[in-house]
Amino acid sequence: MSRPIQASINLPALTHNLSIVRKHAPNSRIMAVIKADAYGHGLLPATQALRAADGFALLELDAAITLREAGFKQPILLLEGFFSMQELRLFQQFQLNAVIHHSEQISMLLASKERNLGLFIKINTGMNRLGLRPEQYLMGIKKLQENSYANNVTLMTHFACADDSRQKESVLAQINCFKTITQQHNYPISLANSAAIIRYPETHGDWVRPGILLYGASPFTDQTAEDLKLQSVMTLSSKVIAIHDLRAGDRVGYGGFFHASRPMRIGIVACGYADGYPRHAPTGTPVLVNNQPSRLLGRVSMDMLTVDLTHIPNAGINSSVILWGSGVSVDEIANRSNTISYELLSALAPRVERTVAA
Ligand SMILES: *Cc1c(COP(=O)(O)O)cnc(C)c1O
Repeated sequence: MSRPIQASINLPALTHNLSIVRKHAPNSRIMAVIKADAYGHGLLPATQALRAADGFALLELDAAITLREAGFKQPILLLEGFFSMQELRLFQQFQLNAVIHHSEQISMLLASKERNLGLFIKINTGMNRLGLRPEQYLMGIKKLQENSYANNVTLMTHFACADDSRQKESVLAQINCFKTITQQHNYPISLANSAAIIRYPETHGDWVRPGILLYGASPFTDQTAEDLKLQSVMTLSSKVIAIHDLRAGDRVGYGGFFHASRPMRIGIVACGYADGYPRHAPTGTPVLVNNQPSRLLGRVSMDMLTVDLTHIPNAGINSSVILWGSGVSVDEIANRSNTISYELLSALAPRVERTVAA
């Protein structure tokens, strides 16, 4: 038998979460963000479950082509655009939309004579990651218009702080900057990621771009996925593969970081950081064993971790362990490990088999 770890992907939950996004932004089209293999959930099954979305956004050209070849007809947006003239030809061949975030891309476009690509022109309104600065945008759009390349243009920006309720000012400043620069043109607009879809309805515009909400996790630290009526999509589970009885004073795992202060029973679980479980998860991080609440003990190692079975006498070899998902929120595991659910989901290792629950 192979290792018992697996990630079960609940496709109806994805479809449900899409309908929650629809409720929040009923007048906008939804560009479902499926980058990084649909945040680790598996590109094709996830996209199939999200087929009611109005478009898809990702960064990987091969994945975009896979979607076209699988028959998806919606707009497909490449969030970093094209990187070369050769790629630009593929955009044309497969009818892909490109984010234009750099003047270099405008030059390539003008050189290509490809006048009908769908362009999402990205404006840097304060995040300082990708995007044309306001004056670059004004020059760029003029050039595109003058040479008849602006036939299918959408204007977009991305927020740096929409998830943080203490940084409302920063979001409002970005909204303001975007409005000021774009109001002279009558192009469709796209601003909102998951956090802004929930917290800033005034940003919904023509296209919203939800990612994490679709996968049933929360973009916020002060509102849970359950509060948002989302259903978890990925459940990471494994099994107990060894059991030990400890005496008071025994220590557990690398570094001997956990000390048993009394006799205990522990289980070794086939899941480690090489599977994508965070090494920074501390003692006390919740897990479910035989559907009963338990906790992590000591250091997570590459292929295994240790859980407390002292209070679960019916647990033994082959008992089921849920690491995150159904009953243990991935946000909580992320939080305990000083990271975010985005990282845990998208960094799930390729060696973990995804099984699809339809
Ligand atoms: C990843 C990404 C999103 C989705 O972000 P979430 O916080 O997961 O909703 C939206 N827009 C852009 C440009 C992105 O890169």
